[in-house]
Amino acid sequence: MRRLVLGNWKMNRTVSQSIALVRSLLPLLPRSADREVAIAPPFTALAGVAPLLKGSAVGLAAQDLFWEDEGPYTGEISGLMLQDAGVTYVLVAHSERRRHLEETDRVAALKVRAALRCGLKPILCVGEDETERAAGRARDVVRAQMARALEGSVPGETPHLQIAYEPVWAIGSGRAATPSQVAEMHDLIRAELRGLYGETGSVVRVLYGGSVTAENVDELMRTPGVDGLLVGGAALHAGQFARIVSYGL
Ligand code: PEP
Repeated sequence: MRRLVLGNWKMNRTVSQSIALVRSLLPLLPRSADREVAIAPPFTALAGVAPLLKGSAVGLAAQDLFWEDEGPYTGEISGLMLQDAGVTYVLVAHSERRRHLEETDRVAALKVRAALRCGLKPILCVGEDETERAAGRARDVVRAQMARALEGSVPGETPHLQIAYEPVWAIGSGRAATPSQVAEMHDLIRAELRGLYGETGSVVRVLYGGSVTAENVDELMRTPGVDGLLVGGAALHAGQFARIVSYGL
């Protein structure tokens, strides 16, 4: 399975700063057939960055989408618009959206459906918070998030789907999950995928996200069940992101 490293820029970088970051990043990235790279700049920068990525090995991702394709939804961006802007991947239900915008699993399900309908590849983000982990509920939380958000999807869609396991307590905290925590949760996610889709569940890539750095990337990528990474803070620095993408080389 080809691994995927995706940089989530969150609400950072103007259009000109985004273009400058892409220009400094592209020459630093390794060309390696076993890994795929994508970046998720803010919406405003997608159209400006897309032409720079054409002909490169780097894909374009969006950080969110709305669940309808067009209409009276002021302020929203649809999957059709993203596809038109050159986007391939789209994050769904990142924990920051769950927390600050009260995005629910039901909304996540609508967004997964919309992404697939529009020919985009959704990356569904799941993960427990600190209190849930301390209470021994991490597995139940992730299981429930997956069951609700993937409701209505069918085995034929699995080649387009990815899951990102992102424990909320590891995001932006400098405290990445340990390899054994990651291995346990990825194993659970894989089992859930097989339960939902049968054998085709094994083609879904399961990414890890949460305080990934150039220092811990090798260990994380050696961890069983890790098919790629979702990188936040470190993706805003060309050198750091390029070093993360260069894991194991
Ligand atoms: C993220 O935002 O998805 C993320 C993993 O952030 P960070 O790498 O900064 O923890």
